[in-house]
Amino acid sequence: MPIQQTLSIIKPDAVKQNVIGEILTRFEKNGLSIVAGKYLFLTKEQAEKFYDIHRERPFFTDLVDFMISGPVFVSVLEGEDAVLKNREIMGATDPKEAADGTIRKDFAKSIDANAVHGSDSHENAIKEIMFFFREDEIISKLEL
Ligand code: ADP
Ligand code: MG
Repeated sequence: MPIQQTLSIIKPDAVKQNVIGEILTRFEKNGLSIVAGKYLFLTKEQAEKFYDIHRERPFFTDLVDFMISGPVFVSVLEGEDAVLKNREIMGATDPKEAADGTIRKDFAKSIDANAVHGSDSHENAIKEIMFFFREDEIISKLEL
């Protein structure tokens, strides 16, 4: 499997629980490296644009309101098969269905406040990384 990058967002519910460090540690313990990161408060416009693919879904407005309910921690994770690996570490969208030991099982309260976002494909990872980071803000381990 190739080395990939993927975008992670630690959502407002997890930031409020003060578990940014614990969540980042899970990525690192599972072979992913944090190669870019920023702590920020999304604007409504940013949240709407980021989740544009869900614009027609009934939960869109609630999702946007939730994502701007507090600060988030956005990072770029790098490692072998990073997109899929991050999705495995995250667990299912609905924490009730998330496997034991996953982030959502341990930190998410509900399907809308579900602790983390992770890109779902290599193509979307590239788009999502570019949404938040300039090229010079990402320092790939492959360049060191
Ligand atoms: P994932 O975050 O696992 O990739 P989706 O891309 O399907 O899941 O949905 C994006 C986000 O929208 C979810 O993480 C969740 O916060 C919210 N969401 C998804 N489905 C629902 C739902 N049925 N009700 C409320 N919120 C939802
Ligand atoms: Mg998704």
